[in-house]
Amino acid sequence: MRAITFKEKGEYKYRKAYPVPELGERDVLIDISQCGLCGTDVHIYKGEFVADFPVVIGHEFSGTVEGVGEKVDNFEQGDRVAVNPNTVCNKCEFCRAGKENLCVTLPGLGVNSDGGFSEYAKVPERCVYSIPDSVSFTSAAFVEPLSCAINGINNASIEKGDDVLVLGSGPTGLLLVQLANISGAAKVVSSAKRVKRLEMARRLGATGTINVTERNLKESVENLIGKSGADVVIEAVGAEKTMKQSLQVVRPGGHVVWFGVASPELEIPIKPFEVYRKELTIQGSFVNPYSTKDALDLLAEGKIDVEDLVTHRFGLEQFDRAIEVYSNDDSRIKIMMEP
Ligand SMILES: [Zn+2]
Ligand SMILES: [Zn+2]
Repeated sequence: MRAITFKEKGEYKYRKAYPVPELGERDVLIDISQCGLCGTDVHIYKGEFVADFPVVIGHEFSGTVEGVGEKVDNFEQGDRVAVNPNTVCNKCEFCRAGKENLCVTLPGLGVNSDGGFSEYAKVPERCVYSIPDSVSFTSAAFVEPLSCAINGINNASIEKGDDVLVLGSGPTGLLLVQLANISGAAKVVSSAKRVKRLEMARRLGATGTINVTERNLKESVENLIGKSGADVVIEAVGAEKTMKQSLQVVRPGGHVVWFGVASPELEIPIKPFEVYRKELTIQGSFVNPYSTKDALDLLAEGKIDVEDLVTHRFGLEQFDRAIEVYSNDDSRIKIMMEP
């Protein structure tokens, strides 16, 4: 089969004859239709995220069941499916306490074993989800990022009528804007550097947007939300500047969620006095505990728009070009690879 294989960071190959994975008795073989290119993939490419090389990366995929292991009960050839790539150990104390995203090992498809930038992928049955005919393969490839965004929103504890600020309008920031809206927020304000993304945020329901290359964030929040700041601020960038800002633009007693993936080495100075005096809650949010089914349900009911986020589509043989567009094309929101 065709596949993009990484020997080590930055060193990948487009292979035309990579072996099709052999199934264990509880595995499902998926003929991949679409696989989203995610920031994590680019971090692996640049060596900023540890993967178990050699590996086929890509973890946001959907497709059709091609074959099943002997003990697979719930799927058969031809089923349309989406995938939760976080395979968890089911043995550690966190898995056993119902906190699977805190799993000590948390092996992930496309990071620790072969993933979705290939024609076929082997996936444990418990990570495979049927999708209704009304959900396109493109939508289904958003199940993983959407399920992570749902965890972020659940961690934000939004109450009806809250004013929410989402810092950053990447693909996941734009999912968070939509989720904040359907969670009962009154105002949902989105910030970004790129005009196209701010337009998209408005189209997807943001009540206000802030172009941070032109305007001061704190003043803009005062104008759009109010002098005291936002009830909830979700940082969806993972950068020092926005993480610091999140504490400055949240109201006293407010809730900050650090959703964006920071570099593991990043250390930032913050003012503990500010957290103390404003009695802030700072909450992390990591992957997608038990939210895959919720993501599929929201997609099936048409409550979240994901198709409009796709700005570019490439075949596997165009992976070079996909990385180039990811890094340098300002019009880029979500890139879909189509194996
Ligand atoms: Zn991802
Ligand atoms: Zn575990």
